[in-house]
Amino acid sequence: MSEKWIFDFIAIFPELIKPFLEVGPLKKVIEAGTLEVRLFDLKKIADSPKQIDDYPYGGGPGMVIKPEPLKRAIEKTGGGYVIYFSPQGDRLTQELAHRLIEKRHIVFICGRYKGVDERIVEKYVDLELSIGDYVLSAGEIAGIVVLDVLSRLLPDAMGDMDSARTDSFESSLLDAPYYTRPREFEGMEVPEVLLSGNHKLIEKWRKREALKRTLLKRPDLLENIDLSPEEKKLLEEIIKEVLAHEGPHNKGN
Ligand code: SAH
Repeated sequence: MSEKWIFDFIAIFPELIKPFLEVGPLKKVIEAGTLEVRLFDLKKIADSPKQIDDYPYGGGPGMVIKPEPLKRAIEKTGGGYVIYFSPQGDRLTQELAHRLIEKRHIVFICGRYKGVDERIVEKYVDLELSIGDYVLSAGEIAGIVVLDVLSRLLPDAMGDMDSARTDSFESSLLDAPYYTRPREFEGMEVPEVLLSGNHKLIEKWRKREALKRTLLKRPDLLENIDLSPEEKKLLEEIIKEVLAHEGPHNKGN
């Protein structure tokens, strides 16, 4: 038997997730049978009472998702590692994503309004997961992000696994810059080395650019990685070059 994953989404509007299942790496892993995504609609699951949200005890604005329909939905999934999307949770990183796909069956709970009744978190949730330090109005949005990140890590998701391996964060470095045809665009030439056909030189150039970008854009990432002696030497050269010519820049500012 080949490896298989099941991701379940419990949400008030799970249909928001559906279009993303029909394109890209997600479509590929689903068609290959590597991933099964099941959507559990709280509106349909709640029957007696039909209500899925209610006013918070103690007053205040906003609604809270009731515990009974959530419990029923969790039971319907048949068990799995239960994740509740919450801005208060562990922050998603590429490294955490790698650890999460070790769980073959994950049940994702998407909150809305003020969130879910805390007793669900206490009793049924294995991990609270945040996609960043900001507040979304819907867990479905976090669900789409997490689904995309995780699906790229499954076997055969990417046409070319090497493409995923060189992406930012996979090696703890940011990715190198990319160029495609035409060779000249608005007076700007593609770096000569990329046209050389010399794969060793190209690889070295990419490594150098990855180190340089990480140094300039995300120096914090360099604190946590073990560089090879060759990479250390490259980095020293880059630091000298940057100090001599440029000074830090960040186009975002
Ligand atoms: N009252 C909550 C926020 C509720 S936001 C609090 O302050 O902690 C409504 C829902 O959106 C949440 O239940 C959660 O499922 C989702 N959500 C909001 N921000 C998120 C984030 N940064 N990461 C993941 N999910 C988030």
